[in-house]
Amino acid sequence: MRARFCHNYRIGRSNPAARKAVTRVALTFKRGIHPKEQKQYTEDVPINLLSHGEGSEMVYPMAQHLGVPCEPVVSVGSRVLQGQKIGDSLAFVCAPIHSSVSGTVKDIRRHMTASGNMVKSVIIEDDGKLEQHPDIRPRSGFDDLSREVLLTVIREAGIVGLGGAGFPTHVKLSPPPDKPVDTIIVNGCECEPYLTTDNRVMIEEPDRIVLGLRIMLKIIPGARGVVAVEDNKPEAIRALRPFCAETPGVELAVVKTKYPQGAERQLIYAVTKREVPSGGLPMDAGCIVNNVDTVIAIHRAVFRGRPLMRKVVTLTGGAVKNPGNYKVRLGTKVGDLVEMAGGFCAEAAKVVVGGPMMGVAIFDIDVPVVKTTSGVLFLTSEEARIPPERACIRCGQCVTHCPAGLVPIELYTDVLREDGARFVRHHGLDCIECGSCSYICPAKRRLAQAIRTVRRVELAKKAEAAKGRE
Ligand code: SF4
Ligand code: SF4
Repeated sequence: MRARFCHNYRIGRSNPAARKAVTRVALTFKRGIHPKEQKQYTEDVPINLLSHGEGSEMVYPMAQHLGVPCEPVVSVGSRVLQGQKIGDSLAFVCAPIHSSVSGTVKDIRRHMTASGNMVKSVIIEDDGKLEQHPDIRPRSGFDDLSREVLLTVIREAGIVGLGGAGFPTHVKLSPPPDKPVDTIIVNGCECEPYLTTDNRVMIEEPDRIVLGLRIMLKIIPGARGVVAVEDNKPEAIRALRPFCAETPGVELAVVKTKYPQGAERQLIYAVTKREVPSGGLPMDAGCIVNNVDTVIAIHRAVFRGRPLMRKVVTLTGGAVKNPGNYKVRLGTKVGDLVEMAGGFCAEAAKVVVGGPMMGVAIFDIDVPVVKTTSGVLFLTSEEARIPPERACIRCGQCVTHCPAGLVPIELYTDVLREDGARFVRHHGLDCIECGSCSYICPAKRRLAQAIRTVRRVELAKKAEAAKGRE
């Protein structure tokens, strides 16, 4: 399969423009793993729009991004239109939230999210009319828009990193003067098993991805644009290739299929061979990384005047009757989502929001789809089976494969000793929570789960200490 795919590139040699636009060397990062991809269930299923009608309860948590949560800007009983802002904040690191339907604000209360947290949420009853807010107006182009206006459009559209991180995009695109950015990478790797939404949007909307990248290049002038795709997505590569070839300053980088190739630090290394310093951000390596769906959201906000109201979600697993890629309105409950898609064909023993490596298991499907939801897995008991933990055999596999260059067994020992200071000294905060160590461990030690828990505690302590110094 791989050899045939490479042959396609040899065909591209006859076209100098296409050759210019495709980086053909094997780009990758150090270490990593090769989990079973499990994408065959949905990778060929086109994106379908799922709609529900009048009377549905839509839930909009006011924290769907990294940074300061929003506060509701509507009150109980008020009528809202599709695309109307319902939450915002004056803070810079924040992204507003919009209603994805028209209807009535039924309540403002704390509601559970996939993370298990109770978050202040605006509850809207859908009137089924999808009446649009008058602020939604298309534009013919962006040539006459300044960098500042484009950043405002992106901010007001509530765009955040849709790959899972949820960092507000206008903040990412505003690096300080002492951190010059020369490379913008569009992340089309989608290395998590089972998930196929990025693959589908690359196949179905390649022109919008490249146009969205051009908008970002206008905001960061002088940077080069790179669309990075793993080599297990030949159809997406074929779709993107002509648009990258005809766009000056944009190239297509085919990167090796390996997990976690889509993680920011690993992708930056694969494309530029630069390392993001410990505790640093991609801009410390002169880079900005944005997911393909984020770039399409930028295109939609600029050209169609539409804020972020929909998300493409992979619905898969052995318990789902119709696995596929579905475009759903933000605020839709996961339970409604699976019903709209045709329901279950077997009992779901485990429900995971996100991929199997980095996602979170949920115990209540009443949680809403938010900006960072990329997939929901409904796994049968056979698929969800976790082998029992055994004693560590000191094989070193977790160390050999950790993409962050850490010693997971050492961090795990720090966790067992409840020694947070030692955990930090062993660079536990540099863990990217990829789960590779747990996956590869022959003794099936729950390394990543334990490390993730303590890392989050230590990060919270660090944030508290920083607040105290302000
Ligand atoms: S220690 Fe962290 S970064 Fe390293 S493999 Fe485990 S989860 Fe991934
Ligand atoms: S991979 Fe598992 S068994 Fe091997 S050293 Fe790490 S924790 Fe121990």
